[in-house]
Amino acid sequence: MAENVRTVETQATLTIDRPLATRRLPLIPLTVTVLFPHALTPVFLSFEQHAVLDAALATDRTVLVVAHRIEDDETSRPTDLYEVGVEAHISRVIRLPDGTVNVLLRGLQRTRISAVTHESTILCADSQPLEDRADDSTALEATRRVVLEIFGQVAELSRTLPDTSYIAAQSAESPGALADVVAANLPIPLPLRQHILETLDVPERLRIVLDVLMRELEVLRLEQQVRATIDQEHDQARRAQLLREQLRVIQQELGQTDPAQRDRTELAERIAAARLPDTIRTRALDEIHRLELIGMGTPEYGVVHTYIDWLIGLPWETTSEDTPSFEQAIRLLDEHHYGLRKVKDRVIEHLAVRQLAGDVTRPPILCFVGPPGVGKTSLGRAIAAALGRRFVRVALGGIHDEAEIRGHRRTYVGALPGRIVKAIREAGTTNPVFMLDEIDKLGHDARGDPSSALLEVLDWEQNRQFSDHYLDVPYDLSNVLFITTANMLDGIEDALLDRLEVVELPSYTEDEKLEIARRFLIPRQNTINGLSATPIRLTEATLRQMVRDYTFEAGVRQFERDIGAVCRKVARMVAEGRRYPRRIQPEHLQGMLGPPRFDYGTAQSADEVGVATGLVWTEQGGDVMPIEIVVVEGKGNLILTGQLGDVMQESAQAALSWTHANARRVGIDPRRFDKVDIHVHAPEGGIPKDGPSAGITIACALVSALSGRALRRTVAMTGEVTLRGHVLPVGGVKEKVLGAHRAGISHIILPRKNERDLIDELPRDVRRKLQLTYVTTLDEVLPVAFVENPLDFPYKQQRRKKVSPKKVEKAPSGDTEPT
Ligand code: ADP
Repeated sequence: MAENVRTVETQATLTIDRPLATRRLPLIPLTVTVLFPHALTPVFLSFEQHAVLDAALATDRTVLVVAHRIEDDETSRPTDLYEVGVEAHISRVIRLPDGTVNVLLRGLQRTRISAVTHESTILCADSQPLEDRADDSTALEATRRVVLEIFGQVAELSRTLPDTSYIAAQSAESPGALADVVAANLPIPLPLRQHILETLDVPERLRIVLDVLMRELEVLRLEQQVRATIDQEHDQARRAQLLREQLRVIQQELGQTDPAQRDRTELAERIAAARLPDTIRTRALDEIHRLELIGMGTPEYGVVHTYIDWLIGLPWETTSEDTPSFEQAIRLLDEHHYGLRKVKDRVIEHLAVRQLAGDVTRPPILCFVGPPGVGKTSLGRAIAAALGRRFVRVALGGIHDEAEIRGHRRTYVGALPGRIVKAIREAGTTNPVFMLDEIDKLGHDARGDPSSALLEVLDWEQNRQFSDHYLDVPYDLSNVLFITTANMLDGIEDALLDRLEVVELPSYTEDEKLEIARRFLIPRQNTINGLSATPIRLTEATLRQMVRDYTFEAGVRQFERDIGAVCRKVARMVAEGRRYPRRIQPEHLQGMLGPPRFDYGTAQSADEVGVATGLVWTEQGGDVMPIEIVVVEGKGNLILTGQLGDVMQESAQAALSWTHANARRVGIDPRRFDKVDIHVHAPEGGIPKDGPSAGITIACALVSALSGRALRRTVAMTGEVTLRGHVLPVGGVKEKVLGAHRAGISHIILPRKNERDLIDELPRDVRRKLQLTYVTTLDEVLPVAFVENPLDFPYKQQRRKKVSPKKVEKAPSGDTEPT
């Protein structure tokens, strides 16, 4: 409204009263703006200023308007006022309902205030008019024209300037008046406005105003650019929306529907195309109906969609045909693996029973037990190939949670099926060969017992209806051929073990490893490493050195890796065009594989007192383990170190008791036991050891340490000992014997009752190189283990000869006869 008023009045601002001599006028201090002569400015008056207004209206409606230096009327005082102000005429007064008054002031002329006085309730000021300083120079005229032109451009671009402001500028009677009109209409900060007001030199005033105008023009142009860009973007967004809308209409016209509908149609088509049992098809279609109720893009939509994907993606009725011919199966097994005759026979028998029994009954699940790298997994693959079935594998090691086997319910965020169902989908058929690896490493804790879920998987009666929590519909696993593997039987739960048919895969001997390398590993690595055209050969001496100095393992995994490493080195030489050895000799190995990693033959290097060589059976296969004993002065304590388990500690106690009881027979003074501490140590203290099988080893080391007789370094032994010196059978003898052979032992003492475990089980070359002695008592152990049989040197208490005092006296005198 104020602008309207100004608009109307501006047109009338053409005549300006002439300057008057010094006069006293009511004073209006302004905090927000500076009034200019020749311009109309609307001003709000506060309640306190009403008295000034009344005083002015009572006379000739003329007031003096001056700006505050400080833009805060709360704190302003008369002394804060600028000295130059404007005499103004009150053109119009509008009283608003809230008590404030809007007055329209027309600036008349610049004045300099000489005094401010309080008169009753109002302020008055004495002032003298100020004259502009101008000449008629052409330069001034030129500046005037430029200012007017640029102001015209600004007025055109500006959205806030009233159109009439340019007309007022055009009508300005002098360059000074033009500068005032323009300055009054531009957004200029108060101090600069005041500076313009105080500039009486017209050319200078015009120059300042021109500066302000130029800046304003630039800002307005920029503003226009920004607005244009925004408008363009807005237009594009609108266009895109319009196009989408049109597309939707076109799709509707063509019978196509929204994306969610399309998604559901696509799912339905996949369901129609998949081979699904009726129940599953119905279930999947039901889920599609559920999708209709859920907004696309919501998490729940995704959950249902993924579930339908799983239902469609699983093989429900896709089965691979078994290879009918048994000869072919046998041939394929032979083609893939060297040796393992017994294992292969067991596998063939198993398959035969499965085939003949059909759906009436099922033989137990095969469980391949053996150290790493002996071919358990690759045998599984070979069986799959022999039967013409797919092969999948799931590692069970470290699984603690039942949900890993059986999946999570769908209510669980991020739920998915368990590993069994995932593997079946990977297989893509209902009857793959399914290898469950490391069944002995299955864990169980508070999160649930995965072994019970596994029982259901492996039980032929139950697994027809295997329930995965995620799938929520039973899946038939009865056509799957499960094979399990384990490093040792110890870790397998009894209930599981019950369902398994254990097939042991023993460690390989050096000769077997060489044969496997020649027939399988070297050809394979040559192919893998691009040397098929120029295959390398490794001499027997090289292969033996690789086995002895670079690997220490029951299987052939590291061996194969090293052969691969040699192939890669040669491949590089070939690629670089360098000379390379076709036959790899032992002397090439250092350069290709680095320095030897193991000392072949870890047996003791000398016959020693107090050190006996025992045998252990670990997941890595058999190995030798020395038992060291030292006897020190003490009080009859037995100290055990080297992380020995409870059972092993007890067998050490038993061995000690036997030795104590038989001390005299084996040449030990029985009284010594009370005067010494006995320290038993099994080196490699970081590895926990347990079991009773070190009994005879500890007993031998004890007898040796206490009697001072040396043990043979080439003899190793295993067997549990009783208090009465009987030697009882132990587990894992075959692995232990093979491990001892690997370690360079030549003679092994074993419990008689273990003899049957080894009959026909040991490879011929091992049997040829190793001497085995079977024993039933410790008395039979000692002659074999010791360099000199302690039983041949029983302890006899030495009678002290009574020495005659005469002789004693005679000795120092040197009178004895020379001898
Ligand atoms: P495991 O599953 O027992 O740890 P793998 O099946 O992974 O061992 O065998 C390791 C490697 O040794 C495989 O490349 C495998 O083909 C090879 N291998 C093991 N035993 C034999 C064998 N008797 N004949 C041929 N290759 C073998």
